[in-house]
Amino acid sequence: MEIHGFNKTTLLDYPEHIAATVFTGGCNFRCPFCHNGELVLDPARQPSVAEEEVLYYLKKRQGILQGVCVTGGEPTLQRDLRAFLQKIKELEYPIKLDTNGYMPGVLWELLQEHLIDYVAMDIKASRDNYARAAGLPHMDISRIEESIGILKSSGIPYEFRTTVVKGIHTVGEFKEIGRWIEGCPAYYLQSYQENDNCLYRMIQTAESNAVKPGGAEVFGAFSREELEQMAELVRKYVGKVVLRGVVGT
Ligand code: SF4
Repeated sequence: MEIHGFNKTTLLDYPEHIAATVFTGGCNFRCPFCHNGELVLDPARQPSVAEEEVLYYLKKRQGILQGVCVTGGEPTLQRDLRAFLQKIKELEYPIKLDTNGYMPGVLWELLQEHLIDYVAMDIKASRDNYARAAGLPHMDISRIEESIGILKSSGIPYEFRTTVVKGIHTVGEFKEIGRWIEGCPAYYLQSYQENDNCLYRMIQTAESNAVKPGGAEVFGAFSREELEQMAELVRKYVGKVVLRGVVGT
């Protein structure tokens, strides 16, 4: 496993669990608003964490930690993800997977083998706006459709979530997103927050080709009122809608 970060304790990443979070490197998307720009564009240059170190810690914390979150980058690109999750399962931890949903075959296999207990999948935008939000020149939207369908019929708890960005989204498209994910138990709208590591601000340094922060700011956050309007458009289609990262929530 290409592990490039390990948060030993968090209350934020796995709902209702005291969890540890494993960060994998690399991604098949290039969402311009991604907060893990260096991890996505230049994983080989990021400090790595040995798989054994993670597993040793998890073994030591059995009975204290309540779960493990595997996030990225995009974890489903890791060739040995299945074997890694099996090792975590042998330690009897529930596992939450964060994914962009572009590898439905991997998602399906992990569910069939009961290697994941909770999934948080990104819904980047409405169908017509998806490739732009994912930072790709073109994409196969049927792969996202397939992952949505897999989760809806999975029988395990899951959530869909969208990072909402002024400059990418419009309020109106959330009606379409609501129809698309109709029936899901929980949908999270995460307000965009600018930081130096945003992917679209990364530039390549001439001398080393390394990716470094430095690009201009072109995106922003919607107001609370606008986020509430988006939430209202989705609310009638899903179990619950929650705003995240908005001042006062
Ligand atoms: S935000 Fe986009 S580019 Fe960043 S890790 Fe997630 S899917 Fe990949």
